[in-house]
Amino acid sequence: MDIAQTLPAETPFGGELERRPRLLVVDDQPVNVQLLYRVFAADHQVFAATEGNKALEIARQQQPDLILLDVVMPELDGFEVCQRLKADQLTRDIPVIFLTANADPESEAHGLDVGAVDFIGKPFNTKVVRARVKTHVTLKRQGDLLRRWVFLDGLTGIANRRHFDERLAVEWARIQRSGAPLSVLLIDVDHFKRFNDSHGHQSGDDCLRRVAAALASGLQRPTDLVARYGGEEFVCLLPDTDGYGAQHMAEQLRQRVHQETQPGVSGAPWPAVTVSIGVGSARLDLMHSADDLLREADLNLYRAKKAGRNAVRAGAAALSA
Ligand code: GH3
Ligand code: MG
Ligand code: MG
Repeated sequence: MDIAQTLPAETPFGGELERRPRLLVVDDQPVNVQLLYRVFAADHQVFAATEGNKALEIARQQQPDLILLDVVMPELDGFEVCQRLKADQLTRDIPVIFLTANADPESEAHGLDVGAVDFIGKPFNTKVVRARVKTHVTLKRQGDLLRRWVFLDGLTGIANRRHFDERLAVEWARIQRSGAPLSVLLIDVDHFKRFNDSHGHQSGDDCLRRVAAALASGLQRPTDLVARYGGEEFVCLLPDTDGYGAQHMAEQLRQRVHQETQPGVSGAPWPAVTVSIGVGSARLDLMHSADDLLREADLNLYRAKKAGRNAVRAGAAALSA
């Protein structure tokens, strides 16, 4: 799951807490699935599986808020399913409640050991199941919000540097295997100290939000990422993009920021700003780490500034400069 690139300031996370909870019910007896469906369908979105592998597939695809999991099933049993859910980055944060006829302390302890949050014996009381599901769904959603904040920049609502660093590490590892191209753009607002001095820090903040929105709306692929790198610096991660493509993208973003910060477009009482952009493109024969990629982008950014600002610079020559 990836983080949204921009979020409307007035409704953080687009009403995340209001939407109906998503439940996955897993039981090899269709009659039990139906029973639980009836208990929850009115106020939950319910997905169902009657065997373990299907449950794992639905969990990955549908990202439910909670899983009600039977223990005794043919092929993959519930414990095994839970272990696999917890070992998978995509599903490990989904709480699991075991529902089983074998509610002896041994299996209960084992269930909790493999990562379940709760254990309910069958036959169950529907009020108790509802209450426990409600508690764990609430906790899960609070956790989701916290996890998202950890990766968001508080001022602009786009990804923060921590998120960028993590994604860069993943992409760098990926290109070691695939040899696919990978580029980054370092983007720095021109003369921003002067902007703050002339128009005030509040307008400066407002301007940075505008720049972030312009950059986010200028990205074209769902795998592209823009993050605030710090201060008035932004960074874009462009997977599967070579130097040519990245330079083209940088040129578009440069123009876009200037356009979208025009007073006529932004409605703001301050003048448009420009950015300088340095491109870095991965060269596995020359670069030893993702830091080298950033260093190339930084050197090219320096060249763009030196060339008079409001400019894009690219090229591997910068690395040995
Ligand atoms: P250059 O064209 O060489 O990049 O010049 P510059 O003035 O943009 O560069 P410098 O690094 O000297 O100054 C960056 C300024 O950005 C300093 C600081 O006041 C401003 N700035 C950094 N972070 C923020 C922020 O969060 N809000 C506001 N309003 N200003 C910020
Ligand atoms: Mg700077
Ligand atoms: Mg600057």
